Amino acid sequence: MGRAFVYVIVGGGVAAGYAAHEFVKRGVSQGELCIISEEPVAPYERPALSKGYLLPEAPARLPSFHCCVGTNEERLAPKWYKEHGIELILGTRVKSADVRRKTLLTATGETISYKYLIVATGARALKLEEFGVNGSDAANVCYLRDLADADRLVSVMQSCTGGNAVVIGGGYIGMECAASLVINKLNVTMVFPEAHCMARLFTPKIASYYEEFYQSKGVKFIKGTVLASFDFNADGKVTAVNLRDGSKLPADMVVIGIGIRPNTSLFEGQLTMEKGGIKVNGKMQSSNSSVYAIGDVAAFPVKVVGETRRLEHVDSARKSARHAVAAIKEPEKSGEFDYLPFFYSRVFTLSWQFYGDNAGEVVHFGDFSGNTFGAYWIHKGQLVGSFLEGGTKEQYEAIAQATRLKPKVEDLAELERQGVEFALSV
Ligand code: FAD
Ligand code: NAD
Repeated sequence: MGRAFVYVIVGGGVAAGYAAHEFVKRGVSQGELCIISEEPVAPYERPALSKGYLLPEAPARLPSFHCCVGTNEERLAPKWYKEHGIELILGTRVKSADVRRKTLLTATGETISYKYLIVATGARALKLEEFGVNGSDAANVCYLRDLADADRLVSVMQSCTGGNAVVIGGGYIGMECAASLVINKLNVTMVFPEAHCMARLFTPKIASYYEEFYQSKGVKFIKGTVLASFDFNADGKVTAVNLRDGSKLPADMVVIGIGIRPNTSLFEGQLTMEKGGIKVNGKMQSSNSSVYAIGDVAAFPVKVVGETRRLEHVDSARKSARHAVAAIKEPEKSGEFDYLPFFYSRVFTLSWQFYGDNAGEVVHFGDFSGNTFGAYWIHKGQLVGSFLEGGTKEQYEAIAQATRLKPKVEDLAELERQGVEFALSV
């Protein structure tokens, strides 16, 4: 037994929500489109989970952050899907896919066939066990990828007020969760292997600004080492974290953010993979012409950097989703996806944006002892990347625009002197 749809989206996260919105904008008939998601709720803005969702007062809760409120567009509550004849199959995992037959098999035993498939399965959090450490199942060890994780984190956090939290990982999850834990009155220690936080993006100078800010809020940093093991009590709860450098940190709770892996397993051996994701062309189309991939799972040609990349950020999920739907619905009119990478974060009173590529030489600018500063990356004599903390809307738009244009830069000292004015004048 099974059902057939013209368009099927597997995965029900950010990219799925924006793809559905684009389908409706471009016209989709009742019963043509179906979304199958393992999560029990309609697509929502995942970034809320490490920010508004963790606030002690008036926290964000669904339905307030369903897609597409993140771009100030309409909020797609479950009713919206119904009204537009879109089948939402929630709480249902797709357990296998056959791209030759154009069918999916769900964990409930249903076979669903498609004419076009959009893969929007996102990614999963890497587990400690993958680094040889046991203890992920302990009641006070938290990961953060989906709503269930966020609910668990909130309840553990609320039961530990005034206690010690150890955050493992100095990336996005580590930084955003550490800030939320402080706001919830926990004593926070961050542990990560690199020399500074956000090592994939920040320069040492940028990182030290954020680390000092965090320290002023009471956060302690232990760098250059990793978790070796946990101590547990008789109930199986973690009581301490043992580090490879031999130190022991007492812990009432632990938050782990050590990276992700794209959910590609349904398609291994069936579609071409690259950079750990599903390789697609500028139309988000995979090596099988009926299958498209969007969001965290897609490795796509990023024209401005001249490379295939897989990006793990919400703006790319939203825009790649819209582009794939345009390419499916109007193949002759839609061009190649021409995406400028955009990352951002907001913690405490801080807020930064980054555009482009962090390659080449770095020129810092602005007041690192104040609230507004930034950096440009110059590669082969051109501006290729821009970072700005504490900017205005106009300044952020200017650095985005300047980075897209990749202007020539000859005098780095002059660029440093001009700072954000340079972007405003391009
Ligand atoms: P996801 O949103 O992860 O959605 C994937 C969906 O597929 C999930 O619903 C999953 O359950 C489902 N799925 C997977 N496998 C199957 C299967 N076999 N069958 C059925 N369903 C399946 N990015 C930013 O740029 N800024 C931020 O501030 C920011 N904050 C973040 C905060 C958190 C806590 C997290 C976890 C991520 C954050 N990100 C942020 C990253 C951003 O959320 C992701 O890049 C984005 O969600 C990717 O969208 P996606 O649709 O590809 O994947
Ligand atoms: P990440 O890649 O940002 O950071 C992973 C961190 O794990 C590294 O910085 C490193 O410090 C640490 N690490 C790696 N191996 C380790 C080990 N063995 N022991 C201890 N630490 C180790 O990944 P994340 O922070 O887990 O975030 C998960 C995903 O969520 C990413 O895709 C990220 O882009 C996304 N996210 C984005 C935002 C944002 O854009 N504002 C916010 C939250 C989450």
